[in-house]
Amino acid sequence: MGYKLSNEQVNELFQNLKKDYRIFAPKRFKKQGRYSDTDIIRYDEVDMVEDIVYKEKSHYSAKEVLTPINQTIFYFTEDEFKESKLKDNRGILIFLRPCDINAIERQDKIYLENGFEDFFYKRIRDKVKFIMMECVEGWDTCFCTAMNSNKTDNYSMAVRFEDDGLLFEVKDKEFDSYFIKRPEADFQVQFIEKNQAEVNVPKIPNKEVLKKVKEHPMWKEYDKRCEGCGSCTVACPTCTCFTTMDVMYNENANVGERRRIMSSCNIDGFDQVAGGHIFRSTVGDRMRYKVLHKVYDFKERFGENMCVGCGRCTSRCPQFISMTATINKLNNAVTEIINEK
Ligand code: SF4
Ligand code: SF4
Repeated sequence: MGYKLSNEQVNELFQNLKKDYRIFAPKRFKKQGRYSDTDIIRYDEVDMVEDIVYKEKSHYSAKEVLTPINQTIFYFTEDEFKESKLKDNRGILIFLRPCDINAIERQDKIYLENGFEDFFYKRIRDKVKFIMMECVEGWDTCFCTAMNSNKTDNYSMAVRFEDDGLLFEVKDKEFDSYFIKRPEADFQVQFIEKNQAEVNVPKIPNKEVLKKVKEHPMWKEYDKRCEGCGSCTVACPTCTCFTTMDVMYNENANVGERRRIMSSCNIDGFDQVAGGHIFRSTVGDRMRYKVLHKVYDFKERFGENMCVGCGRCTSRCPQFISMTATINKLNNAVTEIINEK
C-alpha cells in the first residue's frame, strides 16, 4: 500500500514509531569532516525527517548501528564474567539505500552463516527492520549495478523523498496501523539501472590463474601508494574485521571488560600471529588480500561478491585509490594471464 505524507505528518509518524523503535538514518555532523569546515554524514538516531540527509551519500555506512566501532562485549572479575546488556530494548528501524541493505545481507553471511552465530551481532540484528530509501541516480563513485546490489525487496517500508513530503510503500503488515487514515497514493519504487562508472568484475576460472593473479606485479603499485591507514575498510559497509582489547579497571589485571573494536586487514600488524609471523608484510599484499576478498574469495564461499559497489572506499582514501580502477585493473590482469596460456 502507498501513502503520501507531508513532513509534518512524517514527524508525527516518527513520534509514534519511536515508542517501539529507535530510528537511524544518515545525519549531518557539522564541521566534523576530514578537512576544516567540512561536514561528515554518518548514521545516528534521528528524531525528525529534517535530520535525514538523503541528497548526499553518507561517508560511513549503517554498519555502525549493528557493530559499533567500540563495543563492550563482557565484564570479567577474578573467576566469572557477565555479558554486556543492550541499553535499549526497542526495535531498530534503519533508512538505507538498496546497496546498503545488500551490504547488511553480506554482513549476515559473515556473522550468522559462517559456521557459527555471533551472539553480539544476532541480538541486535534480530531487532532491525529496513526502510529503503529509493536511489535512482547514484554518484560518480557508485558501481552497484556491476555488483547486483542496486535492487532489493528486503525492506519493511520504502520511501521516496519529495520536496513537500515523503511517499511511502508499506510492505510489512506490522506497520499498517501507523498509517490508518493517512492519504493513500500510488508509489512504485524504482531502482538505478546504470551507474556512471563502468566496472568489469573479473572471473577467475581456476586456482592456477588465481596463483598467477596473486603474483601479478599490479599489487606492487600499492606498496608506493597505499598508506595502510584502513580508512577504506572503516567506511566499507561489508568489512567485518575486528580485534578485541581488555580494559583493566585498576592494577588488578583480572578485573575489567573486553571490548570488540573495529579493525582492518589493511593496517600494519592485523595479521601478525604468535611468534611474530606476519602473513602479509607489505601494503601491496594487504591490498591484494582485501580486493580479492571483495570480488573473489567471498563469492567462492557464499556465491556473490562481497563488495556492493557503494564507492565509499574510493571517497575516503587519502591517496585517491579508486576501487573502480582497481577492479578494472584486476580484470585486465586476469585477461592477460588467461591469454598468455
Ligand atoms: S569495497 Fe568499497 S565499493 Fe565495495 S562495498 Fe566496500 S566500500 Fe563499497
Ligand atoms: S584508504 Fe587508501 S591509503 Fe588507506 S588503506 Fe585504504 S587504500 Fe590504502
